[in-house]
Amino acid sequence: MGNQNNTLEEDNNDSKPESLDFIREIIANDLSDGKHDSPVTRFPPEPNGYIHIGHAKSICLNFGLSNENKGGVCHLRFDDTNPVKEDSEYVESIKQDVSWLGFDWGENLFFASDYFEKLYELAQELIKEGKAFVCDLSFDEIADHRGTPKSPGKNSPYRDRSPADNIDLFERMRNGEFEDGSKVLRAKIDMASPNLHLRDPVLYRIRKTTHHRTGDKWCIYPMYDFTHCLSDSIEGVTHSLCTLEFEVHRPLYDWVLANLSVECHPRQIEFARLNLTYTVLSKRKLLVLVQEGYVDGWDDPRMPTVSGLRRRGFTPASIRGFCHAIGVTKFNSLTDVALLEHSLRQDLNETVERRLAVLHPIKVVITNFQEGQIEELEAVNNPKNPEAGTRTMPFSREIYIEKDDFMEDPPKKFFRLGPGREVRLRFAYFITCQEVIKNNVGEIVELHCTYDPETRGGNAPDGRKVKGTIHWVSAAKAFETKVRLYDRLFTTDDPNKEDEGKTFIDHINESSLEVIADAKLEPSLSEANPGESFQFERLGYFCADLKDSEHGKPVFNRTTTLRDAWAKKKNQA
Ligand code: ATP
Ligand code: MG
Repeated sequence: MGNQNNTLEEDNNDSKPESLDFIREIIANDLSDGKHDSPVTRFPPEPNGYIHIGHAKSICLNFGLSNENKGGVCHLRFDDTNPVKEDSEYVESIKQDVSWLGFDWGENLFFASDYFEKLYELAQELIKEGKAFVCDLSFDEIADHRGTPKSPGKNSPYRDRSPADNIDLFERMRNGEFEDGSKVLRAKIDMASPNLHLRDPVLYRIRKTTHHRTGDKWCIYPMYDFTHCLSDSIEGVTHSLCTLEFEVHRPLYDWVLANLSVECHPRQIEFARLNLTYTVLSKRKLLVLVQEGYVDGWDDPRMPTVSGLRRRGFTPASIRGFCHAIGVTKFNSLTDVALLEHSLRQDLNETVERRLAVLHPIKVVITNFQEGQIEELEAVNNPKNPEAGTRTMPFSREIYIEKDDFMEDPPKKFFRLGPGREVRLRFAYFITCQEVIKNNVGEIVELHCTYDPETRGGNAPDGRKVKGTIHWVSAAKAFETKVRLYDRLFTTDDPNKEDEGKTFIDHINESSLEVIADAKLEPSLSEANPGESFQFERLGYFCADLKDSEHGKPVFNRTTTLRDAWAKKKNQA
């Protein structure tokens, strides 16, 4: 249904921003100056985890730019230079997630590991020019030699090896003659530079580990700072967009390109990464949540991963709409997760059909409705969209209503059911509560009501009004299934803040998941397809789970409530 409607042309919240952000401005100027005919960007994930909503911001920016500009292209490039943490499982999930978000890299799928041979040759070129050397210091010694921001570092004793010796040693590193950690290749720049990244940075290290694509062909692997700029250059990228923490790496990015015989020198531009309230976005932290069992995998519907959001019932359009709304700036800030939920509600409200479901049921017996009789009543699928049509819902002598919709001793403003009160059952009849049946410990077990047959469809011919309308499901025909109510995974708006010795784990919301084993749903919901979303009237948006649903027995996840319950709680506090 609504979820499938995700091509770029069809939604209007993907439109080009009204005023250009600073990156779009730079690109527009470069194009009008004739510096480039069209922009070439790239999204460069490291396949060491699933991508999350922060990556979605980068994806929407990079692919958005290529879509908006005539002739623009955006590459999907896997930055796979660390065999220890990377895996093809992650490659596949990232491809799936980028496509699902609605973006197409076409022919432009690349792997940094495809450039290993070329990068090796370029490293040799640096060595021959006397701009790189093989260093025998250990990682700890290199760190000790580096100095501090205020004091210069010390030259490595191996810094003055001859190019010929370095070429030989580098080749022997490649051939596996040395152990992990015993030698590295370093750039020869300036151990006194105020920028620590320019103090003879490591370019290659030995890692005798099988790589997910190159297998055991290589045992030396290039570092990010050497690989990234050269991969950009090899691919003819025009604008290399990355997050602010790479600003201090930019001089090294430019140094490598300036000191090698490469034709293309892309421009690195940094923007602020997305930080969200009540959310952690570091892959390291997400991995802890997965590995230590705080959640049920990378695609747990509480995770901020694209696969988790998908299972939760987020739509691609809602994620793109959110990324569009937050824009791109140079300043780090914390974005309210409510904005993401707002974008989601906006999309779902327009697109998904309504159904009735009772999550916390209490039985109602309609004493003047004939036993065994089933009446089919007409229900509107989406009041926002007449084209969505109607369906029928069975009505019977026994129905379920929500426990909360009854109060034995209701306060003045409670307009739902109470002893002697009349309410409207959505799409059905007016009923009046005649008797409250309790067990021997005084708990309510069922309500006995009468219905007014004249009010079929929800209106009284005598014009009498009722103040409350409640939802219901036929007890005889209910589809019983599991419904999972998800809440925020953290209790504090900034779980990343580590104060008083607390870590993000200490802020986990113990009640982020409530499982209702046998919720009572209207029968048509048994036919829901995995991934299909609905509004359960008065309750929220729900999505048939992609993994745990069986044919004829979908399991539902609550995507979000109808309103922001947290804002309400905060205001009351
Ligand atoms: P982490 O540091 O959490 O382990 P990462 O950010 O290094 O992950 P990559 O796979 O290297 O993950 O990121 C791919 C691209 O996505 C990079 O260009 C990176 O800058 C961008 N990106 C990652 N996180 C965010 C974020 N929170 N907001 C915006 N862009 C992001
Ligand atoms: Mg990274």
